[in-house]
Amino acid sequence: MRPRGIEERIRGGIYGVAIGDALGATLEYLDRNEIGRKYGQLRDIVGGGWLSLKPGSWTDDTEMTLAVAEGIAESPDDPVPRIGAAFIRWKSTNPPDIGPTIRAAFHAWEQGGLSHREWHLAAERAHEMLGGRSAGNGALMRTLPVSLAYADPRTVFRRAVEIARMTHWDPIAGLSCALYCLFARELLEGTREKSMGIGLGLGAAFQRAKDLMSSLEGFREFEPAWRSVPEIRLPISVSALNPTGYAVNSLICALWAFTEHKSFEDAVVAAVNLGGDADTIGAITGGLAGVHWGYGSIPTRWIGKLTADQRARLDSAVQGILRVREGST
Ligand SMILES: [Mg+2]
Repeated sequence: MRPRGIEERIRGGIYGVAIGDALGATLEYLDRNEIGRKYGQLRDIVGGGWLSLKPGSWTDDTEMTLAVAEGIAESPDDPVPRIGAAFIRWKSTNPPDIGPTIRAAFHAWEQGGLSHREWHLAAERAHEMLGGRSAGNGALMRTLPVSLAYADPRTVFRRAVEIARMTHWDPIAGLSCALYCLFARELLEGTREKSMGIGLGLGAAFQRAKDLMSSLEGFREFEPAWRSVPEIRLPISVSALNPTGYAVNSLICALWAFTEHKSFEDAVVAAVNLGGDADTIGAITGGLAGVHWGYGSIPTRWIGKLTADQRARLDSAVQGILRVREGST
């Protein structure tokens, strides 16, 4: 039997990414002062932005999340080649907004004549081309399906890092994804605990995700790199927010927006109005908020901006994730 709460939360997470992306895309690259002058506080999906989007259109964050979901659904025990194929199908549509790290990895993959089994080689070459800087948030923005499809935390960790490092070789990018996914997994699995009357505060859930990550066998290899990142503790203060494309900064902004607000709407509005990398920070906040509060918490005026085709693609990703979960239990 599929617990109803789980499906509602998985749909909330996937739609949450898309809605956060579509809301935030209007504000990408603006700073808080520019947003204040132009919009006051943006609370509606209006499109525009540097990509001149139609209201409801999403960007690379959602496209790559769908690619990850699709690859996992097709081949849960060996997702990298299928995800790579989905990335290249997306690239072939000539999207205007491929980020610099992903662009470099795509370039290295194509120039090297690599196979879909060799994405890690492409990422390593891209990392060198970029002067050792590949801890951008382009892996974090697409990682949510990992936390929804796999139940075992060791698998969540391994797949999150492995899928991140298809394009982002820096271990900090991979570990940001792993921590985010382990936290999202706590939120998802919390459904059962709450129904048993145990309940979990968000601070305790995040602490559990951190403890879990540092206890995993696979973490040891990356521990030295992670030590250079200041410890992330809740609550996060406003003065710690820096909405740039560095994975750790984006993660901190999303954790603040999610844990310091009481509803999906308020969390995602707070995230995108930080400006900077607003669509990505909106997407990763929307993923957490959607998993925690469920699909029903997403304002219908926002869902209504998506076309039937967009909703069908999101629903198909949800169904694929549910099939993987059923196969693994
Ligand atoms: Mg984007």
